Amino acid sequence: MVRSILLKLSESKGFAHWVTTNSSTRRMSHRFVAGETLDEALQAARQCNDAGMLATLDYLGENVSTAADAQKARDAYIEIFDRIFKEKLNANVSCKLTQLGLDLSPEFCEGQVLSIAERAAAYDNFLRIDMESSIYTQRTVELVKRVRTQTPTVGAVIQSYLYRSESDVQDLLSYGCRIRLCKGAYKESEEVAFPGKADVDANYVKLMRTLLPSGFYHGIATHDPKMIAATIRCASENDISKDDFEFQMLYGVRTDLQRRLVHDGYRVRIYIPYGRDWFPYFMRRLAERPANLMFFLRNFLRS
Ligand SMILES: Cc1cc2nc3c(=O)[nH]c(=O)nc-3n(C[C@H](O)[C@H](O)[C@H](O)COP(=O)(O)OP(=O)(O)OC[C@H]3O[C@@H](n4cnc5c(N)ncnc54)[C@H](O)[C@@H]3O)c2cc1C
Repeated sequence: MVRSILLKLSESKGFAHWVTTNSSTRRMSHRFVAGETLDEALQAARQCNDAGMLATLDYLGENVSTAADAQKARDAYIEIFDRIFKEKLNANVSCKLTQLGLDLSPEFCEGQVLSIAERAAAYDNFLRIDMESSIYTQRTVELVKRVRTQTPTVGAVIQSYLYRSESDVQDLLSYGCRIRLCKGAYKESEEVAFPGKADVDANYVKLMRTLLPSGFYHGIATHDPKMIAATIRCASENDISKDDFEFQMLYGVRTDLQRRLVHDGYRVRIYIPYGRDWFPYFMRRLAERPANLMFFLRNFLRS
């Protein structure tokens, strides 16, 4: 119930304006967001690298309504790749298609993705296309497949809460696509997504067991100790090396677990979001966990 309300609020422009202009809530966003500037994000990536972790940088933004905003986002992503190279960081990039103009025109968006992917390829780096709500799933999978026919430096994300994900995994694997597996962060109806957590988790394990032995390098994105233990078991049963996949976690979430996995010799990549448009991302993080909402409310009431 609380999750649904928070996810609904994450789409409200009025509430977004109130939250993002309030100095207390802006301060609190730092719990999950590295900062508003690229310099701050690069500094967070440097700290990850120093702690033995990899990074992926995300310039926050989604559902832009003008081509000019979409082009600004594309330029920002190209700059991120330039700076990662210049500063010799071990990091790649994650982006959202609705930030690059998917709502305006799929062809325009594809051109934008291609130009970012080409810059990634020039540096032998990698661009991950985040997965958004289910109304975009088909278009996202199609676009990733088309861009991959021109440059293989692009990967996809699959959400285990969607019924369709098993067939999307098979489809993307047939294109040699690298996949990030996550549970899914959006509000979805029972028509498209498993309503119960047990089914989402069971599907996560099932998809992970398809991905890991597939011969491609995938990202297992979760903070759930049960999913992590199942992945470690699957790797050991199938003789898959610790270097042949990576765990991925969000900036500011379960840093203890991040460190433990690094200590145990696993590759861990941290998803580092930055930028001024942090509101929807922040709300999705609050919705994931009642404790995060309590942290927010406690600090807000104290301020
Ligand atoms: C690197 C990365 C990239 C992602 N990309 C996408 C994407 O492209 N599209 C998409 O829909 N979703 C994405 N997600 C979000 C994902 O779908 C889940 O919403 C989120 O990861 C929570 O699921 P979980 O697997 O951690 O398990 P859950 O079952 O939600 O949580 C398991 C345990 O993890 C801990 N935990 C989880 N979330 C939090 C939190 N916010 N704060 C503190 N502790 C927490 C708690 O201990 C909890 O009990 C991504 C997640 C990661 C880690």
